[in-house]
Amino acid sequence: MGLVVQKYGGSSVADAEGIKRVAKRIVEAKKNGHQVVVVVSAMGDTTDELIELAEQVSPMPAGREFDMLLTAGERISMALLAMAIKSLGHQAQSFTGSQAGVITDSVHNKARIIDVTPGRIRTSIDEGNIAIVAGFQGVSQEGKNITTLGRGGSDTTAVALAAALDAEVCEIYTDVDGVFTADPRVVKKAKKIDWISFEDMLELAASGSKVLLHRCVEYARRYNIPIHVRSSFSGLQGTWVSNEPRGDQQVEHAIISGVAHDVSEAKITVVGVPDKPGEAAAIFRTIADAEVNIDMVVQNVSAASTGLTDISFTLPKAEGRKAIDALERAKPTIGFESLRYDDQIAKISLVGAGMKTNPGVTAGFFEALSDAGVNIELISTSEIRISVVTRADDVNNAVRAVHSAFGLDSDSDEAVVYGGTGR
Ligand code: ADP
Ligand code: ASP
Ligand code: MG
Repeated sequence: MGLVVQKYGGSSVADAEGIKRVAKRIVEAKKNGHQVVVVVSAMGDTTDELIELAEQVSPMPAGREFDMLLTAGERISMALLAMAIKSLGHQAQSFTGSQAGVITDSVHNKARIIDVTPGRIRTSIDEGNIAIVAGFQGVSQEGKNITTLGRGGSDTTAVALAAALDAEVCEIYTDVDGVFTADPRVVKKAKKIDWISFEDMLELAASGSKVLLHRCVEYARRYNIPIHVRSSFSGLQGTWVSNEPRGDQQVEHAIISGVAHDVSEAKITVVGVPDKPGEAAAIFRTIADAEVNIDMVVQNVSAASTGLTDISFTLPKAEGRKAIDALERAKPTIGFESLRYDDQIAKISLVGAGMKTNPGVTAGFFEALSDAGVNIELISTSEIRISVVTRADDVNNAVRAVHSAFGLDSDSDEAVVYGGTGR
């Protein structure tokens, strides 16, 4: 029996009862002979509540103190979980990200893990303890400041620790039974996927399926760590994410793996940009220097009479203010007319490696949206994904329509959502 890393999300440890339930499950794994390292998230919606609190004392909280505040959420749950395990008669020790050796770069609020040195964790489990690690946090290599890994970052902590400790599997426990063909909160007829490739899961995660964080899947693929996504509320087998399915993992040879949606982005349109070389470069250099990540980009054809064009791009809503401020400051040098900001958008994506060899997927996607009366504002594609931007109000309708149109609806049970607020 080898080492397993188990990660419990906020909805699994939302209250004292949840913590006790999870503690029992962890003890079971230990009793089965495994060495167990647990990564835990903040309880319920604690992180959102801490963010709201920060916003009440400062209009744009960011940086060092913000990270210091947010990491408190995971500290609460790690200590409580260790106590709950001890009260079941087993040894447990909790560790902050820094104590667990999670070393990051210095970018506060979205730091990247650059190394994991889990010496203390190794010692702790070798002494017979269950090690509980606070997710979503690390310490910067330069400056030794406490950092956070970005929303949902506990998934990445878990996979990074699994890689550093050479675990046989990284189990991600959440409030649904695995990865489904669409978010079960939106599509009741979504189907649980038994096995999915890193490649398809990466695209789903990047397109907004927050059941797994994109960076965590990237990490798992790089170090070839199989992930098992499952519910902490049921005993069911979940979804395996890996390079190759094992014999007992069912693979559906569907063209489409799933439909993802994302309402966390906004759209900025730079209006009246002179249509000459260097303009797009100047705009996106400004955005990059402000450390804002962009997603989709569209440039309109310029109007012949004016020689001006519009450039639109999408970005996380949380970075909207920063991007607008940076562009306003650079306006005199770039020379555009105005900026438009729109945060009432949604992105809907269809993902599947089968797309590469099946013509007609794009047409079918657009037909499904048009049949549902949904207007498309932006389009982007990769080899295995098509994404569109629509009005935010249309998102649920659009996801359901596309899910049905591609034959993904299950004809048996409804997908179960065990907990969480969907926030
Ligand atoms: P945790 O608190 O465990 O980290 P999250 O809220 O981050 O949980 O992720 C689980 C949620 O992800 C589910 O409750 C579900 O609403 C959402 N979700 C989005 N897309 C999918 C999908 N394709 N399959 C399963 N869940 C999904
Ligand atoms: N608590 C953090 C968040 O809500 C990290 C996580 O849950 O993964 O984003
Ligand atoms: Mg999560």
